[in-house]
Amino acid sequence: MKTANTEVGQSPVPRLIINLAAIQRNYARLQNLAGKAEVAAVIKANAYGLGADEIAPALSKAGCRTFYTANASEGAQLRQTLTGQSANIYVFSGFWSSEREALKKHSLFPVINELSQLEELRDMDPDIPFALHFDTGINRLGLGASETEILLANPDLLDGLDVRQIMSHLACADEPEHPLNARQLIAFSRIRSAFPKIPASFSNSAASLLGTEYHFDILRPGIALYGGNPTPNNENLFEPTVHIEAPILQIRTLKPGDLVGYGASWQSERPHRLATLALGYADGIMRASQQGGYGKIGTSNAPIIGRVSMDMLSVDISDIDPDIQVGDWVSFLGPDLDECANSASTISYEFLVRLGSRFLRLYRDN
Ligand SMILES: *Cc1c(COP(=O)(O)O)cnc(C)c1O
Repeated sequence: MKTANTEVGQSPVPRLIINLAAIQRNYARLQNLAGKAEVAAVIKANAYGLGADEIAPALSKAGCRTFYTANASEGAQLRQTLTGQSANIYVFSGFWSSEREALKKHSLFPVINELSQLEELRDMDPDIPFALHFDTGINRLGLGASETEILLANPDLLDGLDVRQIMSHLACADEPEHPLNARQLIAFSRIRSAFPKIPASFSNSAASLLGTEYHFDILRPGIALYGGNPTPNNENLFEPTVHIEAPILQIRTLKPGDLVGYGASWQSERPHRLATLALGYADGIMRASQQGGYGKIGTSNAPIIGRVSMDMLSVDISDIDPDIQVGDWVSFLGPDLDECANSASTISYEFLVRLGSRFLRLYRDN
């Protein structure tokens, strides 16, 4: 068995293993679903915490030409990462005059979400290409209903400007039966028919699975690329891309009545074998994971026992191979990403972006 001691030169550090080839295969799965539509990639928040510097070039190699970031600073970083490659980089947060220079310097396209931003861009930098975001029901970002009507009645507001894309975002795409999906589709289709020549983008990962009528010209997936299940009530069509390997620091045997961890919150009722791992909430394993969270050794589950500490947690290995020893690895996430998130009362997105900076991060290509 491979041990931590031999593999990382005695260093008991948890590692985060990110499979770039799996991300590329998820991109290809989306491209299959998309047919003729373009598949872009949302790589905001450092590619959902997994590393935009590594993932963006891998996606570019897989054929991705359009990327979405949250703000101009993420966009600038991405432009640098993709130096020499053709890439449309959009910035969701809008057109801010404070970011004009960055937008121009790095050829970033703001996603405009208010008419005042449109006016400002027209006055200051009419040459900057941009996208127009219409809010069709999520009430988060985008031109609201009354601003939308103003623009539909005055399409000349766009004369001479370089609108590269119109877009909208669904509130409930992960619930295919939710009536808001169809309502937003109708609203966006109406807007689209007013601008038939401008490429339209409507679907995140979950909406990409709602059917081709939701696809328009450009899909905008994030979580599916990274292997999270966009519709957790259905089977996951996407491949896991990330797992944790945490080394066992110590193994102990508990007698009935022994207590475990801070607060002595867990008491054994029978003899147990317990492994203490170098992995804790500083690495993003939430304290709430003590309720039903687990790691894996091979295909066996090793349930989290007692409280998660900053740098350590304990798992029950009573029913697993008795040859397990200090230095062996316990894995987390992988195909169980959604279940791990669920056991911490959250979703795959939040679990991924909270993965800590202390991991030894390894990028694989197969
Ligand atoms: C984050 C985001 C996406 C990607 O969503 P996923 O659910 O991760 O596919 C797409 N569009 C907008 C506007 C977003 O904010």
